[in-house]
This record gives sequence, structure tokens and C-alpha cells, in this order.
Amino acid sequence: MNNNCIFCKIANGQIPTDFVYQSSNVVVFKDINPQAPVHLLVVPKAHIENLNVLNDKELSFELFDAIKAATKKLGISEYRCVINTGRSAGQEVFHLHIHVMAGRDFLWPAG
Ligand code: AMP
Ligand code: ZN
Repeated sequence: MNNNCIFCKIANGQIPTDFVYQSSNVVVFKDINPQAPVHLLVVPKAHIENLNVLNDKELSFELFDAIKAATKKLGISEYRCVINTGRSAGQEVFHLHIHVMAGRDFLWPAG
């Protein structure tokens, strides 16, 4: 728990948030500034700065499982996942999160 981290506060209940889904070590909630009709953030409860420092196999699986469980719960089978890692890649919140977006067409290659 990092007291300066917004996602730590959300994931650990210090900021009341409706979770779309949660498991023992992961929460899923809606992005405050959605880039698609559905835009979820899949977030570990532990403060892990980004993907480079994720080294827990069980948690890695739990994060992927939360993507599947949350999308299934919402009846979504087509979606895009993004993990911005580092400032130049667009990371602004330095607590690992997987963006899960759906409900519109997405361009590929991405810009
Ligand atoms: P990134 O740029 O990959 O670090 O993504 C950070 C994401 O967190 C952005 O899409 C923001 O809209 C989102 N965000 C920031 N603060 C909050 C918040 N309090 N609740 C929900 N989403 C947030
Ligand atoms: Zn954090």
C-alpha cells in the first residue's frame, strides 16, 4: 500500500469505488476517462509500479483471469487490452493496470 498512489487507495477501499469484479488480489473498475463505451481497469491490490516489476506467477494468472471474468460478466467477448509501461508508452499512473476496452471498433496498427 502506497499512500500517495490513487490505485492503491481505490484497490484497498480508501476511495469508495464500485468494482465490476474482484478476486483475492485483483480489482476491476471503470476508467474515469473512458476511451471506449466500455473501459475497465484491471488492477492488482498490491502496489506494483508496472509490468517490468511483476514477478508473481499466481498474480499474473489472476490478472488474466480477472480480464476474462469481468468481460464475461458484462457479456463481452471482443475487447482490446493495453498495458502502458513507462512514460513514453503513455503510463501516467505508476501502479500496474490493464486497460480493457470494448464497444467500438479499434484501429490496428495502433498509433
Ligand atoms: P495510464 O495512462 O496507462 O497510466 O492510465 C491511467 C488511467 O487511469 C487513465 O485512463 C485514467 O483515465 C485512469 N484514471 C486515473 N484516475 C482514475 C480514477 N480515480 N478512477 C478511475 N480511473 C482513473
Ligand atoms: Zn499503488
